[in-house]
Amino acid sequence: MATSGTNLEHARAHNRRVVIEAIRLNGELTRAELARLTSLTPQTVSNIATELEQAGIVSSHLPRRIGGRGQPATPLTLNPDSAYSIGIHLDHQSLLIVLVDLSGNVRFRRFIAVQKPQPEPTLALIEQVLQEMRQQVKIDWRKMLGIGVVMPGPFGVEGISSAGPTTLNGWDNVDVAERISAISGLPATLENDATVAAIGERFHGIAKQINSFIYLYIGTGLGAGIFTDGRIYTGHAHNAGEVGHMVVQPGGRACYCGNEGCLERYLSLQAAYEACGLDPMTALPQDLLNVDVALFDHWLDSALPAALQAINIIECLFDAEAVIIGGLMPGELVEKLVKRLHPLHKSVRSKYLDGLRVRVGMTGTDTAALGAAALPIFDEFNPQYEVLLK
Ligand SMILES: [Zn+2]
Repeated sequence: MATSGTNLEHARAHNRRVVIEAIRLNGELTRAELARLTSLTPQTVSNIATELEQAGIVSSHLPRRIGGRGQPATPLTLNPDSAYSIGIHLDHQSLLIVLVDLSGNVRFRRFIAVQKPQPEPTLALIEQVLQEMRQQVKIDWRKMLGIGVVMPGPFGVEGISSAGPTTLNGWDNVDVAERISAISGLPATLENDATVAAIGERFHGIAKQINSFIYLYIGTGLGAGIFTDGRIYTGHAHNAGEVGHMVVQPGGRACYCGNEGCLERYLSLQAAYEACGLDPMTALPQDLLNVDVALFDHWLDSALPAALQAINIIECLFDAEAVIIGGLMPGELVEKLVKRLHPLHKSVRSKYLDGLRVRVGMTGTDTAALGAAALPIFDEFNPQYEVLLK
């Protein structure tokens, strides 16, 4: 594939996203602060700010005087009602649909329990919920940017995608984004749960001020979302960060993919369920709070060597500021896990405190859906922005 040349329209769309993201992360910023934070020229910032202001996406506020001299500076904030997006999270036991405004406030939320969902009935269910949402939520629907869809990965990998209990069966040949776009009339993007949770962490969680981090997502399986220099890395086929099938113990526990000693056979909800005597087909993450503590701790001890090795590999590979652990596992259990991950193996990050190297991220049922709702906003080439700017 040829390297793309300079494309001014793409550069403009990218710079616009950078400006919107900077205001979102900081709450309010003046044009001068924006120029400093984004390394864009004052003229570029000014042009984008004017464009966004005319479109109603950002609002100017009363000037504040900095240091008492010079021109008073006018801070800009996001206008929450200038754009909306929808997040859909489909997992083995749940379908969660949220609608958020540009500031991330949840304006609609519907949680539905499902069992190993199959494509056709699930798509019909999603269509029904989207119709109800459209009737219930009183917003200007012309300002809807689109839908972010999140499902467990990996996508389209022979022998891994469709094998085993940590993947969704039956979805291999379904173009999920295209189907959801067809039933909703909105642009739709599909990403894996770990990538989307990392975006959610960047937008709403502790990674607001961290440009480079790896997010370890404990779902039914295990995946990683990769942020480098404020940008998500998804890989060639959206499977970057599928660390669950990284062999961390050669000759270890058998995995559904055919390997022995895959990371997610030690560190995942599935592994925790098995070790705690829960039925992985029906267990819910919060059930782990009610199991015998000795059983859970025994699982934790068995997962530690694999987790430590994975963190060592990730740190040496990316030199990221932090490894953030979160996902569907209840927060207090993730905290327990992270507390036990000491001392960490030596790596390129050894000069930092363990507590800075590995941190607890957002956890709980809404993490991925909120991240999915951020996808249409995060998409720098979203054609809907062009519509809003007209
Ligand atoms: Zn495997």
